Amino acid sequence: MDQNEVLELNFYDRPEDEQQDFLAQTWCNQCLEVDLGMVNPREYRSEDRHWIVGDCARCGNEVITEIVYEDDE
Ligand SMILES: [Zn+2]
Repeated sequence: MDQNEVLELNFYDRPEDEQQDFLAQTWCNQCLEVDLGMVNPREYRSEDRHWIVGDCARCGNEVITEIVYEDDE
């Protein structure tokens, strides 16, 4: 796999409750506030990253949520 290759995934393939959590739990660099919510989510993954990009529900600035998988759950 190419190091820089980025795959676009379908956010809406996630279970409904996960979608709600990701849409609600955000950090906006513009508003400097957590949990303002995001709209228009797009999900991507690359070799070593997995993240969701959306628009801040308040200001429309791009917000990014990194997805981190716990090894031992
Ligand atoms: Zn914002």
